[in-house]
Amino acid sequence: MQIYNSMTRKKEEFKPIHEGKVGIYACGPTVYNYFHIGNARPFIIFDVLRRYFEYKGYEVTFVQNFTDIDDKMIRQAEKEHTTVQAIAERFIAEYFVDAKALGIRPATVHPRATEHMPQIIALIQKLVEKGLAYESNGDVYFRVRAFPSYGCLCGQNIEDLASGARVSVDEQKEDPLDFALWKAKKPGEPAWESPWGMGRPGWHIECSAMSTTYLGETFDIHGGGKDLLFPHHENEIAQTSGATGKPYVHYWMHNGFLNIDNEKMSKSKGNFFTVRDIAKEYDLEAVRMFTLSAHYRSPLNFSREQIAQAQSSLERLYIARNQLTFLLNAAKDRQPNEGEQAFMKECDEAQTRFIAAMDDDLNTADALGAIFELVREIHKLDATDVSKEAVLYGQQKLLGMTDVLGLLMKKEDDLSPEVKELVERRAQARKDKNWKLSDELRDQIKAMGYILEDTAAGQKVRKDG
Ligand code: AMP
Ligand code: ZN
Repeated sequence: MQIYNSMTRKKEEFKPIHEGKVGIYACGPTVYNYFHIGNARPFIIFDVLRRYFEYKGYEVTFVQNFTDIDDKMIRQAEKEHTTVQAIAERFIAEYFVDAKALGIRPATVHPRATEHMPQIIALIQKLVEKGLAYESNGDVYFRVRAFPSYGCLCGQNIEDLASGARVSVDEQKEDPLDFALWKAKKPGEPAWESPWGMGRPGWHIECSAMSTTYLGETFDIHGGGKDLLFPHHENEIAQTSGATGKPYVHYWMHNGFLNIDNEKMSKSKGNFFTVRDIAKEYDLEAVRMFTLSAHYRSPLNFSREQIAQAQSSLERLYIARNQLTFLLNAAKDRQPNEGEQAFMKECDEAQTRFIAAMDDDLNTADALGAIFELVREIHKLDATDVSKEAVLYGQQKLLGMTDVLGLLMKKEDDLSPEVKELVERRAQARKDKNWKLSDELRDQIKAMGYILEDTAAGQKVRKDG
C-alpha cells in the first residue's frame, strides 16, 4: 500500500514496524461542544484507514484521543456555570452518539488527557533533564533551538520560523520559538500537582504522552487535519523524539479541509454545521458517502446539492443490496452458467480495482467507482433464472467492499409477519387468478408502507421511502 507521507512529501510503500500489525494515532476532538462536519472528515477517514488495514488482515491498534482540558474547555465550563469535567463527560457521550450515526467505530482506545497526567509529567521531566525544556515561573517551555531538526515536518528551518514567532505578554520564554509544555495554574482553573507546582499540560504534550503510552516510542501512522501539521505535529515530533532519541512516527497523514464557500469550516469562524444539525435534514450515512466521494487530501466543498447527490448514490447501493436478496430468494441450486461465470469474473475485477484504489493512498473516490461498476453488473443478472452460487458471490464481494468504507450500515428491511402473510396470500390469489383479491391485497400492503412490484421472478417488496 502506498501512503502519502507529509514528512517526505511523497507517496511511500507502507512497511509496518511489526509484521502484520499497525499502530495508528489520530488527533481527536476537543470535547467542549458537538463536533462539526469538518471535524467528521478526519474521523471518517481514519476509521476507513483502520477498516482497510483490517480488511487486509492486519491487527490494528487505533488510538484517538479526547482533549478534555484546554482554554476552550475552561471557557465553556465558565459559560455553563459547571466544571470542565462535566463538560467533558457530556460531549464525550455526544461524540459517540454522532460517531455511531456516521458509521465511525469506536477506536481501540480513546485516551483522555486528564487521565494521563503521570505520563505527561514524566515526559516533561525527561525533557527538562535533557536540557530540552526549562521551567519559568511555574510554566515549562520546550527549548526549540536545542532540537536542531525542528521544522522537519513543515519543511521550514528554525530561522524562517523564528521570523514569524510571537510572544504573548504573560509568557516568559527564553526564545519566541519556544512553546509551552506545562502552564502554571491561574485562579479558578483546574490544576494538577507537578514538580513545577500546580498547573495543567499544554495541548501538544498530551498527544505525545498518549500516543507513546499505547503505541510505543516509535509507531506507524499519525494522522489529523492539515491544520494540525504545524505547530501541533511539529511540536509532537520535537517533544517525543527529543525525549526518546528515536524517530517518533513513520508515516504522517493529513486530510484536506472541508470548506464552505471555499473557506475552511471552523468553529471559530462560525461557518459550521454540527453533525447534529445536519442529522435533522439528511441521513448521516449520506454525509459519510459525501466525505468519501473525494480523495482525503483534496479540499472538499460542502453544498446541499452534493449531500443530496451522495444520498441518491447511497440509495443505489441499497437497491443493489436488496436486489441481491431478492435474487437469492429466487435463485436455483445449480452450477453458474457461462454468463454467471462472467459476472463472477466482473466481481473479481471490481474488487481488484477497489483494492488498487485503496492501495493508492486511500483513494476512496476511485474505490467507490469500482463498487458502482459491480452494482451495474448485479442489475444485469436474470432474476427468472439465476444460480445461488453466483448471487452469493456477488453479495460477498459487494458487502466486503462497502464494509471497508462503512457503508450499507442499515439492516435489511425485515418484513413484519403481517406483511409477510399478506404477500403470501397475494401470491396464492395470483395463482388462483383472483385479480380482484390480488389488487385489494396490494392496496393493503401499500397502506402498511410497502411497495410491491410484480416481476417475472415473483413479487418484490420494499419499504416505501
Ligand atoms: P479540533 O477539535 O478542532 O481539534 O479538530 C478535530 C479534528 O478535525 C482535527 O484533526 C482537525 O484537523 C480536523 N478539522 C477541523 N476542521 C476541519 C475542516 N474544516 N476540514 C477537515 N478537517 C478539519
Ligand atoms: Zn494531537
